[in-house]
Amino acid sequence: MKNYLRFFSNFISLNQLVGITSQKVFLPFYHTLSNNRLPHISNLYTLRNENIFKEDIDYLCKHFIPVSIDELFDIVHYNKQVTKPIMHLTFDDGLKEIHSTIAPILEEKGVPATIFINSGFVDNKDLFYRYKVSLIIEEFRNNKKYAAEISRELNTAAKNEQEICTELLRLTIHDLPKIESIAKLLGLNFNEFLLTEQPYLTSGQIDDLIKRGFTFGSHSVNHPFFKDISDDERKRQVCDSFATLNNKFNLQNNYFSFPFSDEGVDTEFFKWMYNEQNCKLSFGISGLKKDFSKYHLHRIPFEGALQPAKDIVKTEYLYYIIKSFFNKNIYNRI
Ligand SMILES: [Zn+2]
Repeated sequence: MKNYLRFFSNFISLNQLVGITSQKVFLPFYHTLSNNRLPHISNLYTLRNENIFKEDIDYLCKHFIPVSIDELFDIVHYNKQVTKPIMHLTFDDGLKEIHSTIAPILEEKGVPATIFINSGFVDNKDLFYRYKVSLIIEEFRNNKKYAAEISRELNTAAKNEQEICTELLRLTIHDLPKIESIAKLLGLNFNEFLLTEQPYLTSGQIDDLIKRGFTFGSHSVNHPFFKDISDDERKRQVCDSFATLNNKFNLQNNYFSFPFSDEGVDTEFFKWMYNEQNCKLSFGISGLKKDFSKYHLHRIPFEGALQPAKDIVKTEYLYYIIKSFFNKNIYNRI
């Protein structure tokens, strides 16, 4: 479907698309960027490199006015009408390239951004379980002699490389003991990886970025998929991460982006976040889409493929028009 839309997008301008949809708030979302393969991420999704990222930002700035997250909150909260389309950039997972590569590019181009971090991973104290899976896949692809043992650990009949990798990618946060024992089998040491590679931002780097005007929000404690965990655990993930981050970095406002997505999260939970946790805005990843609350905003993933920004943006607007015919432009939340 999106391939067809990309073709049709050549015949209509972005201005026309924004006019038709009246969607003047655009929220691109990234994790990181790299010119090289990152073994802890590259088996999960395709990353954009520095040049593509710079082209993205140039295209976005041509069509949208970059605003800070506090300005975005004001626009949402006071139902302000914006004359020109606006955007706010966000980055999930708090990776080190934000400090080394991304922040200097954004400063040069005058673009504010918010970084959503996992309180349990700051200072490289622990590694997201999916990054562990990606490291396992990387190691397994280079050394397939453990295929049978991995299948046994996974309790699956999967035999060939592709099947085993598919099974590995299905693991959830509840499978961490399995992930750890497969890593042991392959001789992988996650602590050593954390120590040598330092994939996450350190407290010092976060302090520095805050001083330079970047904003930070929570992305939970250790990145579970909320549909996989109980309501109590969801609350602990939000509450503890806000408490830790506020204590460490004295954040001015509470903003939250759901790890993976907000799938399965009901309206009661959102109300608890806004009312009891003082959360001002929360973010999902369902593209251009409205939700039950004006304080929950959906973002547009820019990773996963290497299409130019123009294609991603225009396709997203066309897709919104198609969805609106079937009322699918509004998230159906219970
Ligand atoms: Zn994430």
